[in-house]
Amino acid sequence: MGRYRGSVCRLCRREGMKLFLKGERCYTPKCSFERRPYPPGIHGQAARFRRKASDYALQLREKQKVKRIYGVLERQFRRYFREASRRKGLTGTTLLQILESRLDNVVYRLGLADSRAQARQLIRHGHIEVNGRKVNIPSYRVKPGDIIRVRDKSRKSPFFRERAEVLAEGARQVPDWLELDVTNLAGRVLAVPQRHHIDLDINEQLIVEFYSR
Ligand code: SF4
Repeated sequence: MGRYRGSVCRLCRREGMKLFLKGERCYTPKCSFERRPYPPGIHGQAARFRRKASDYALQLREKQKVKRIYGVLERQFRRYFREASRRKGLTGTTLLQILESRLDNVVYRLGLADSRAQARQLIRHGHIEVNGRKVNIPSYRVKPGDIIRVRDKSRKSPFFRERAEVLAEGARQVPDWLELDVTNLAGRVLAVPQRHHIDLDINEQLIVEFYSR
């Protein structure tokens, strides 16, 4: 499985918004976007004064933004788009539903990880089970009724003990389509995520237009 290995803060600066890719740091004044809210690179500052972006540029940026938020590379993202366009309903919304149903996103949404990248690592390292079976595939798709849980062995680790304390303080808001069981460091999928559950500043229609060109 390929993944982006460069600076993630650079991606936020490129997209002109905070994508919250680094966990805790994103909420502190150390956030790179707070300090340098212009595109990366030597001409980054000058880019602020450029002329209005074309339709194509807007569509491309929206696609890149969503890919980066969910940590998905082009090939897989395209595959998700093709699947979404084959299904009934609005293609853009279906695409977001597919992305939200990825196991790494669900682990992050439940608050078991600080970022999707961290969630991916926890899954890869075998700390997560779905319906009682270890799943180490971050792109695994969850469905209503699934129980996602930190494995017994892993729960005793300092990382998850600290995680349990943070979650017990109620600092993390879990979306309505998921249910969190703090005591067992587990969660249940209650429903398929709907568009209003996805609290991201995304115009998915631009992505549909991008791939329909
Ligand atoms: Fe983006 Fe977080 Fe880096 Fe800020 S700290 S630029 S929100 S990844």
